[in-house]
Parts: sequence; C-alpha cells; structure tokens
Amino acid sequence: MKRDTSQFQNIPYDVLVIGGGINGAAVANMAAQNKLRVALLDKGDFAGGTSSKSTKLIHGGLRYLENLEFGLVREALHERTAQLRIAPHLVKELGFIIPVYKNDPRPLWMMKLGVTLYDLLSGKHIIHPYKPLSAAEVIHFIPGIKQEDLTGGLIYWDAQMDDARLVLENVQQAELNGAHVANYVEVRTILKENGKAVGVTVKDLISGETFDMRAKHIVCAVGPWTNIFQRKERSESPARVRTTKGVHVIYRGSFCRHAIFVQSHTDGRVFFMIPWYGNTMIGTTDTDYEAHPDEVSVEEEDIRYLCKAAGRLFPDQEFTDDKIVSSFAGLRPLVHKDAASPEKVSRKHVINPSFSGVMYIMGGKYTTYRVIARECLERLGIIKPEEFKGDLQVYGGGEPAFTPEQICEKYGIQEDTALMLRRTYGSRVEDVLRPTVADSSLLERLNPDFPYIKAQLTYGVNVEMAMTSDDIIWRRLPLAYQGLDTPEIRSFIQGQLLPA
Ligand SMILES: Cc1cc2nc3c(=O)[nH]c(=O)nc-3n(C[C@H](O)[C@H](O)[C@H](O)COP(=O)(O)OP(=O)(O)OC[C@H]3O[C@@H](n4cnc5c(N)ncnc54)[C@H](O)[C@@H]3O)c2cc1C
Repeated sequence: MKRDTSQFQNIPYDVLVIGGGINGAAVANMAAQNKLRVALLDKGDFAGGTSSKSTKLIHGGLRYLENLEFGLVREALHERTAQLRIAPHLVKELGFIIPVYKNDPRPLWMMKLGVTLYDLLSGKHIIHPYKPLSAAEVIHFIPGIKQEDLTGGLIYWDAQMDDARLVLENVQQAELNGAHVANYVEVRTILKENGKAVGVTVKDLISGETFDMRAKHIVCAVGPWTNIFQRKERSESPARVRTTKGVHVIYRGSFCRHAIFVQSHTDGRVFFMIPWYGNTMIGTTDTDYEAHPDEVSVEEEDIRYLCKAAGRLFPDQEFTDDKIVSSFAGLRPLVHKDAASPEKVSRKHVINPSFSGVMYIMGGKYTTYRVIARECLERLGIIKPEEFKGDLQVYGGGEPAFTPEQICEKYGIQEDTALMLRRTYGSRVEDVLRPTVADSSLLERLNPDFPYIKAQLTYGVNVEMAMTSDDIIWRRLPLAYQGLDTPEIRSFIQGQLLPA
C-alpha cells in the first residue's frame, strides 16, 4: 500500500469516504468489493481517532441491557460471530468474570438475570453459555481479589480485538480491491454545484499540496469531528453528536487470564480490567467533553478514578503511577443526546444525508461496523440490491499457507515470534518476512524479552503506510501497551521514515 496522492486528481469517483476510522474504512472496503471507484481519506492516521482508543471488545454490551436496548445488543451479538469468522487472527473469544460483593450496586441475582438474557439474545451465536461461580471459584480465577463480602460471581463470554489493525486491514483490503486510500489528507471544503455536493477540496498534510477531488457520492464518517465538519457545510448547523470521553490505563502485569467486570462504588458505573498483551487494560471512564476533538487527552482525575475503583477489588495492590505503562483517551460520537448521564445514551448509529447530499454516519459501536457499512451503501442506492455483496473480507483474514512451525523453519525465527506474526498479520505473515531473506538484520528483535522484530517496523513504513513513529508504536504494532515506546525503537523507525 503506497501513499500516492497524485492518483486522486482528475478521477470521477463513485464514492469518496471522509474519515479512516472503522466506519469509513468498512464503507470503503465494502464499496471497493462491490467494484465501485472509491477514495478514502483521513486527516490523521487510519484509526488515529476513536477507532484505536476503544475498549477493544467485539461484544453485544451486557450493560446496554440495563437501558433495555435489546435490539442493539442482539444485532451486535450476531455481528460478533461474523467478526470472529472474518478476522480470526485479530478477534478472539474472551471470558469475563463478574465478581459480586454484598453491597455492589447490582446484586448476584441481577447479574445472573442479565447474562441469561445475554445468552438468549445470542441464540445460535452464543460463544459458551455463562457459568455461575462460587466465591471460592472467583478467588481461584482471580488470585489477590478482595475476599471480604464476596458473595460469588459468574463467567460469561464475549470477544476481544485489535481495533487499530482491524481498521488497517479494512483499508488494505479496500486498496487491494482498487480503492485509492491515503492518510494525512484533510478534507477542507465540500464543493457544490446547484446546492449538491460534487466533490471536496483537500490538503495533503505531508506535501502541503491542496487539490480538488470529484465524486458522485460523498460519505462522511468523521465520528467525533461530525459537528465541526457539518459547520464546514453550513456554519449554523446544530450539534449532531454529543462527544463523551473514555480513558483507559494500561497497568503493568496481569490479574487474571479472563477479563474482570468491575462495578464502581462511587457512581455505580461498570468498567473492565482486561488482559492486554501481558498487561491489564483498565477502563473506561465516560464524561461529557466539549473541547476540540484534536485536543482530547488523559487527565490526572481520569487515572485516579480508574485506579481507585480497581484498587477496591485488589486491596493488597498499590495502584501507583510507576506501574502505569501508558494511557489513552478517545471520544464517543453519540447521536441520541437527550439522556442525562453519558452511559445512558444509546450507542445506536444514525446514517443521514445532509441538505447537499453528503451521507453522514454517526454514532454506533465498533462491533457493528459491517452493518453500518452495508446500511450506508444501501442508502446511497448505487448498487443493485440483487448484486450487492454485503459480506466483508479483511486483508489477513484468509487461510495461512504455512503453520507457525513451518514459518520458524523457513525463516529461522523463534516460535513466539512466529505466533505473534500470525496473530498480527493473519495469512500475510510471509509478506513481512520475505525481505529478511536478503537482509537478515531485519530478524533482530526490538527487545530481547519481546517477540517483535525489525522487519515489522520496515513493513509498517513500506507497506502499511505508517508516516510517523506514533503510527507504528500505537497502531501498526501494540508497542505502546508493552512499554516498548523507547527512544531506540523510535530512532530506528525514524531512520526508515527518512527518505534515502
Ligand atoms: C472509550 C471508548 C471505548 C469504546 N469501546 C468499544 C468497544 O469495546 N466495542 C465497540 O464495539 N465499540 C466501542 N466504542 C465505540 C467505537 O470505538 C466507535 O463507535 C468507533 O470507533 C467510531 O468509529 P468512527 O469511524 O465513526 O470514528 P473515528 O474512529 O473517530 O474516525 C473518524 C476519523 O475521521 C477523521 N477526520 C476527521 N475530520 C476529518 C477531515 N476533515 N478530513 C479527513 N478526515 C477527517 C479523523 O482523523 C478520524 O480518524 C468505544 C468508544 C470509546 C470512545
């Protein structure tokens, strides 16, 4: 995937997609698969917005049952099965343990009712039925958990994914099917003829060049930037999305091989402690956010809130700052704005054209991206229903040609590296390793304690359109979650980014 913005000019696209988060990437992927001429642009990196800042769950959302959103939960649970099939290397099943204490906001009977309903809504898409756990079993699964007042618990099943790579693989697949894609291209204005949108003016933020592009249909999937973008079209547009901030903390070490469902005692909210690349991802918060989406950041109070609630469950652990490996903040672009508290707002998406015909995608969950892409293209009405291919493939989702053992033998790599490469690139592992035949220095590890090799950094730059070291450290590879955001690694990447 080569970044070449000169290809964008003078092509009459069928669909131009603004925003390379999961929704834009999936629309581009599905449109390209249906043989349309597609362009996809993002003003930052692919998945640089909300789509790399999620809790990384492909799930129905157990807690949405409290808001009586049965349809939304059922749809997402069905999509979970599709995602496990489409991207088996990036989406994996995961158990969730709910420990319940005497004074928890939701007692054990309520939790059991909730997961029973969740399993029923899953229907034939169930991963494994939930199991009740005694207090002793909870302690067995989660060593170190607070024992006082523990009344028992249960385990239910959902799925976990690598959100940034799943976006990238949708982009790569779109490109494989002929789409023109580029990151760091900002859409500045919508061009109109007779009041109808016919194209855009963009700025290539790498070269500084400004140019026009034309398209029959424009899809705007800019998530938290929706309000700002709509005001480009009409300055007096009312706010269409309510943005709420969600923070996650990556805490050193592991508490449990399953995820833990935590109930906060300060405000009754629910959040998770999830195993993530050997560490634990704690999150998320949910607070209204009104500043510019470009400026969202983690505040001290977000970290204190999460550490305090997690600490209540592990009284012998000190949740101190020196054990925080990294943290990140994202914005939910919520469309149903009326509920008082952010967590009560529906996560259902809305797809609506503006007065000039630009099709806006707003809200939604990552999990249902395929449904959103399909609905968006159906609304555009450019593919005959009988010819419409609504399923999706992602770039590394095919059957790998070699087992990890065969890969070890062929390229002289260790087993942990082969397994990690399979988990990261799926069926495309050999594309990463082939250059190591000519240059064996690319087989060197980035750090002796981790399986990553230099070939992945050069692959990120040469093939995956990484333009900055952050693109690699946070999104092409999960290095930031493992304490591998180091000056040495950044300097190696920088060396690859510089033109020869
Ligand atoms: C904290 C948190 C946790 C979540 N956890 C989950 C979860 O576990 N599971 C789940 O299913 N969902 C989850 N979600 C929801 C999910 O992450 C979002 O619904 C989804 O990522 C939104 O994707 P998007 O493509 O609409 O937006 P984004 O990913 O934000 O993409 C919008 C893109 O538009 C680009 N853009 C903006 N303006 C312009 C412009 N002028 N020109 C070009 N490009 C532009 C931005 O750079 C950005 O990359 C979570 C959300 C949050 C905030």
